[in-house]
Amino acid sequence: MGNRAISEELVKETTRFHGHWCPGLAIGIRAAEWVLSEMGRAQDEEIVAIVETDMCAVDAIQYLTGCTFGKGNLIYRDYGKSAFTFYRRRDGKAARLVVKPASRTKDRVMMEKLHQKMQEKGLTGDEEKAMQEGREESSRRIMESGLTDLFDIKPADGPVPKKARFLSSLVCESCGETVMETRTRRFKEQVLCIPCFEVAERR
Ligand SMILES: [Zn+2]
Ligand SMILES: [Zn+2]
Repeated sequence: MGNRAISEELVKETTRFHGHWCPGLAIGIRAAEWVLSEMGRAQDEEIVAIVETDMCAVDAIQYLTGCTFGKGNLIYRDYGKSAFTFYRRRDGKAARLVVKPASRTKDRVMMEKLHQKMQEKGLTGDEEKAMQEGREESSRRIMESGLTDLFDIKPADGPVPKKARFLSSLVCESCGETVMETRTRRFKEQVLCIPCFEVAERR
């Protein structure tokens, strides 16, 4: 594969972390490759990622860039797009990587048909093999493409997100569990967590 920033060993580790090798993971590895060579690896909150999908690619981004949900420097926006924005706080460097639309080749149309059949009535052994080969092929293509062939690299949409703040907590008056203050709801003079609020509202 010979990518500058990510060794074959690191690709293997990332695959182990994710659980399988797939085109989505390959996309995430290539996005991370861009980050590592253009921005470096995230120390604490130095680099922030905004991901617009919660699919396979995000595992590679978390594993390789150090932007993770737990640290608060990985932000998920549920837009259903293979688009990843990265910010470097130190100097404000930022970019949004958007996977270019795949051209509708004959192979791709065949893959879409197989996918549909798989969901509707399942695949025969031969079809399953064809699908597996198709996925292998597109993973390989993703790993071998130039980054600018794979992604449109655009300016970031907005300013760098604010740092994770320390948030105070309250105790839900219904279930007695501790909950971040910003996630509490008020219902008939009571402070409730979201699940309890939803139950109370339905009554
Ligand atoms: Zn996957
Ligand atoms: Zn509660």
